[in-house]
Amino acid sequence: MDLQDLADRILNGERRALARAITLVESGRADHREQATLLLERLRGHGREALRIGLSGTPGVGKSTFIEAFGCMLIAAGLKVAVLAVDPSSARSGGSILGDKTRMERLSREPGAFIRPSPSQSLLGGVARRTREALDLCEAAAFDVILIETVGVGQSETMVAEMSDLFLLLLAPAGGDELQGVKRGIMETADIILVNKADGDLKSTAMRTCADYAGALRLMRKRPQDPEGFPKALTVSALEDTGLVKAWEEMQALIDWRRDTGHFAAARAGQARHWFEAEVRDGLLARLRREPVRGAMAALAGQVEAGRISAARAAEELLRDYLQM
Ligand code: GDP
Repeated sequence: MDLQDLADRILNGERRALARAITLVESGRADHREQATLLLERLRGHGREALRIGLSGTPGVGKSTFIEAFGCMLIAAGLKVAVLAVDPSSARSGGSILGDKTRMERLSREPGAFIRPSPSQSLLGGVARRTREALDLCEAAAFDVILIETVGVGQSETMVAEMSDLFLLLLAPAGGDELQGVKRGIMETADIILVNKADGDLKSTAMRTCADYAGALRLMRKRPQDPEGFPKALTVSALEDTGLVKAWEEMQALIDWRRDTGHFAAARAGQARHWFEAEVRDGLLARLRREPVRGAMAALAGQVEAGRISAARAAEELLRDYLQM
């Protein structure tokens, strides 16, 4: 593969080249990994800094309807929009969010949009790396806004929040007891809560739900990365296209403030550092699983089991002899 050609085409904003590069970073093959690393190095410092927006919500809350409407609105405003999906369940079910071709039909036809479904065979541990690298690739291809969608389960939300500049939580209108159902940790990571489906019969319920969440947010400790009034709860209707302009204005106000106060850059730097540390940890663990360390570890484990050497001493020897630590 001609990496320079691929890099040039990505920098040129060619969506097919971008798709191909993302396939490369998703691959588990060692030679692909090496190529992916080389490609990302070549692209470093080019492209543009996009606004990375994480979006979470349980299935059925309206994520794809929202992304379609919101994405088309941004496109109409002259922005280029990429959509990435993180679906931790796809590794098990073989299913895939965004996999359904009928989702986001309007947005997918826009020349300024790029939509990437989550791979059906994602390696669980590799999801974070794949997504981070896909984000870098989208920035190299000069997208202005990158939406990272995830379903509201388990650790994927935290992971997405950690790679976003702004984190949206999409909720459905519901009674008071539902409010308890949203995990506190998720509420604390949200920058803006959007209560969707504020239309028709659901409108008044949505407004009440929104007021409940606004109340709950006010009770939370103020975070240093927020100006007065944030995190915020708003109502939207993705179906009827209402509240989206207001939501976008609030997002921009928040991001402008974070840029002006240095919080934006500080958060990005912190994320890069976090990512580096995660890579070191993963690399170390990978070394342990490969020969000759693996064999030496098994041999020492046998000696520990037999009581010939203490666990601490055996570990010390292994690290010294095989990892020069
Ligand atoms: P996802 O699973 O979170 O991606 O949810 P979808 O976008 O597929 O939407 C689930 C269902 O909710 C679909 O039947 C949508 O038509 C409906 N829906 C989405 N947004 C709205 C909205 O703003 N108002 C109403 N009334 N229905 C909506």
